[in-house]
Amino acid sequence: MTVIETKAIYRDSPDYERARIGRVFNHRRPNRYPHAVVEATCVQDIVNAVQLAKSQNLRVSVRSGGHSWAAWSVRDNAILIDLGKYNFIEYDAESKIAKVSPRTTGKMLNEYLAPKGRMFAGGHCPDVGLGGFLLQGGMGWNCKNWGWACEQIAAIDVVTAEGIPLHCNDQENSDLFWAARGAGPGFPAIVTAFYLNTREYFEAMKNSTFIYPLSEYKTVMDWVQKAAQECDSSIEAVAVGIIDPQTKVPAILTSFVTFQQTESAALASLKSVNENHPPGAIFEALSQATSIANEYCAQAIANPEGHRYIAENAYIKNEADVTEVLRKAMTTLPEGSKSFTLWFSMFPGSRLELPDMALSMQSDHYMALYTVWEKEEDDERCTKWVRDVMREVERESVGAYLGDSDFQVRKTMFWGDEQGRRLGEVRRKWDPQGRICGYLDQGDKSGVEGLENVHEWQK
Ligand SMILES: Cc1cc2nc3c(=O)[nH]c(=O)nc-3n(C[C@H](O)[C@H](O)[C@H](O)COP(=O)(O)OP(=O)(O)OC[C@H]3O[C@@H](n4cnc5c(N)ncnc54)[C@H](O)[C@@H]3O)c2cc1C
Repeated sequence: MTVIETKAIYRDSPDYERARIGRVFNHRRPNRYPHAVVEATCVQDIVNAVQLAKSQNLRVSVRSGGHSWAAWSVRDNAILIDLGKYNFIEYDAESKIAKVSPRTTGKMLNEYLAPKGRMFAGGHCPDVGLGGFLLQGGMGWNCKNWGWACEQIAAIDVVTAEGIPLHCNDQENSDLFWAARGAGPGFPAIVTAFYLNTREYFEAMKNSTFIYPLSEYKTVMDWVQKAAQECDSSIEAVAVGIIDPQTKVPAILTSFVTFQQTESAALASLKSVNENHPPGAIFEALSQATSIANEYCAQAIANPEGHRYIAENAYIKNEADVTEVLRKAMTTLPEGSKSFTLWFSMFPGSRLELPDMALSMQSDHYMALYTVWEKEEDDERCTKWVRDVMREVERESVGAYLGDSDFQVRKTMFWGDEQGRRLGEVRRKWDPQGRICGYLDQGDKSGVEGLENVHEWQK
């Protein structure tokens, strides 16, 4: 107890505000105040923090990379365990498994693995923490073909809601291992280490990008969906509604990134999109050499630090007219903002049977709004735009991805019926008192009950 008392930063400390929100990516700051923040540096600190919370009948919240859009780690009357100073990456050359601390980012891991000829398909943005990212499933590099990042979790170490360290895999504490792959912020324990299967490093990555005026919207969106289905399994395909930073004019960007080992294989993969993309592009870059490091830079520019954000998302029904469903989202971005709308192809992975894990929601078409602005005076305008767009889009959706959601704003389905029910059981078994904060819904009331897993608009 003495150890934890010295590490806890309480509300009367001059360091409290830094500890509360200093590592939160979204600058739309939450009006929520933890009882104290513990900056853990080892497993014992985490155990002690849970014991401290128990002794004072408080909840526990966790922060790994601080990139939850809705700042899920910042909770009233909780002990916030910040893992920012709990750092390690290890690699076993025989099993090709990396053991990482949850605050490790995709960029840190890939910089460490590259000289060893390995990579991990983490989040697209360099600084997203693997902790939050993997627990919610992890839509990583080339997810449509390589599957969810959480499918590469071989095992985890946790500290339970009772403060007990445990190892979990498909043999040991297998229900926690099942939940760790898709429970997201409702995972009923604290992960202290992930054991991750790595994949071979790709020597020859190339990218073809085309930007079109909005007048070509329908042609481009119809084409990109078809092209993404026909691409080989080395290619990740996206369409993005953007406001061109140079001209300030809205436009549609399509991008195809191929992960290959040789230059000729990469060129062959992109040949079809290079030859068959619709005419009328205002910008084209064919088969440009790229790398994970390059792509991280581009993502960091698109998601600048120090800004205000709202993320929203939906899996659009496979049979929907996706071009029309997304028209408003893609073409009416809030003026003067740095917002963008993403369509991310999930086919063919979306049609394959998933392993037995909590993650169970997907469709061929992932769409997400990333609304980005600088000044508080624009909060209402940007929030209204998101609400207006989603009111129509959600009716054409099968559910949503935890990672780009805010449960305070919208209720929808995040898991299949059976997986949602089972997740509730696992949560109640491992954390019957709701010690770990769980899902942040309106008023932070969901507790051990968790999320309803229903479409609000259907009720
Ligand atoms: C700029 C940006 C880009 C993004 N890009 C992608 C992307 O490409 N693909 C994708 O899938 N997602 C992406 N996301 C979403 C991101 O994966 C989620 O917001 C994720 O929750 C962030 O993880 P974190 O550890 O950084 O966040 P945190 O805010 O630290 O954690 C979020 C929540 O997860 C839970 N949690 C985290 N660590 C632990 C732990 N060790 N034990 C128990 N619970 C824990 C807690 O409830 C915590 O409050 C992006 C987000 C941002 C801001």
